[in-house]
Amino acid sequence: MSYDVLIIGGGPAGLSAAVNVRARGKTALVVSNPLEENPLWRSERVDNHLGFPGATGRELLEAFRSHAERSGAEFAEGRVLNTVFAGDRWYVSVGSEVRESRALVLAAGVARGRKFPGEEEFLGRGVSYCATCDGMLYRGRRVAVIGYAPSAEKEAEFLGSIGCEVTYVSRPRAVSVTGGSTVEAVTCDGQVIPAEGVFILRPAMAPGDLFPGLAVEDGYVTVDRTMATNLPGLFAAGDCTGGPLQVSKAVGEGLIAGQSAARWVDAQNRKKTNE
Ligand SMILES: Cc1cc2nc3c(=O)[nH]c(=O)nc-3n(C[C@H](O)[C@H](O)[C@H](O)COP(=O)(O)OP(=O)(O)OC[C@H]3O[C@@H](n4cnc5c(N)ncnc54)[C@H](O)[C@@H]3O)c2cc1C
Repeated sequence: MSYDVLIIGGGPAGLSAAVNVRARGKTALVVSNPLEENPLWRSERVDNHLGFPGATGRELLEAFRSHAERSGAEFAEGRVLNTVFAGDRWYVSVGSEVRESRALVLAAGVARGRKFPGEEEFLGRGVSYCATCDGMLYRGRRVAVIGYAPSAEKEAEFLGSIGCEVTYVSRPRAVSVTGGSTVEAVTCDGQVIPAEGVFILRPAMAPGDLFPGLAVEDGYVTVDRTMATNLPGLFAAGDCTGGPLQVSKAVGEGLIAGQSAARWVDAQNRKKTNE
């Protein structure tokens, strides 16, 4: 099924976008990691979101999610790994599945942490961000899984189940990837692990990795007042567009991005009718 608007990220910005897409009569799919993996889930007290003084992060997230569900938005759990715009729609890889939509809202929060030495250089030549997508390439070979996402252990188990020889490293502080034309080893906190494949599994990806060609400044997505980015039909909202990194700002930007995405779909439909 193709959706009018697909939203990447089920935090305050993404859920607000979903409610506002639905308010304009458009279909909405929210693709996100599980709610309890959202950074706000751990907050014991949020005092500055209007109307809810003293609420925990978990209470706010559950209320936002239930509002979006009641609005008729649909949900899919998973990590978005890749996106392509072709013809008149976006194709979004979620694990090993592909979802389609006319417009997209990027509401994926901030990707914390810098890339490791060698990570960029060996991307596609031994470094991968997705075990289910690339695992088969390493069948019968030595791989290392560097896990920061809660789902990383499961992905390591999957690699073991298809015949990879897996070394799992949980949350190392210092990592570097080395090799020649392809990866030969990864060093984690001083320990050298020989490996032909290195799976680096973080909960979030940098916006530029998800959207090649996306205008980004100091790590934050560049948007105009309608939350439009430089790419067709792609809007962004919340922490990923820059500070203040706060719930109320994320909710407000989600509203604008949701409305703008719905308007974009209407404009595309009008164009088609006039052709
Ligand atoms: C401990 C803590 C306390 C805080 N306290 C406050 C406070 O008191 N007041 C306040 O206003 N703000 C507070 N914040 C900040 C607030 O949490 C953020 O500003 C807000 O959550 C941003 O919303 P967002 O929707 O933009 O991003 P997020 O809430 O980060 O949501 C983004 C979601 O997208 C998911 N995601 C990312 N990449 C992908 C991908 N590739 N595929 C699928 N899903 C993906 C993430 O897992 C996440 O669930 C706090 C934050 C923390 C960590």
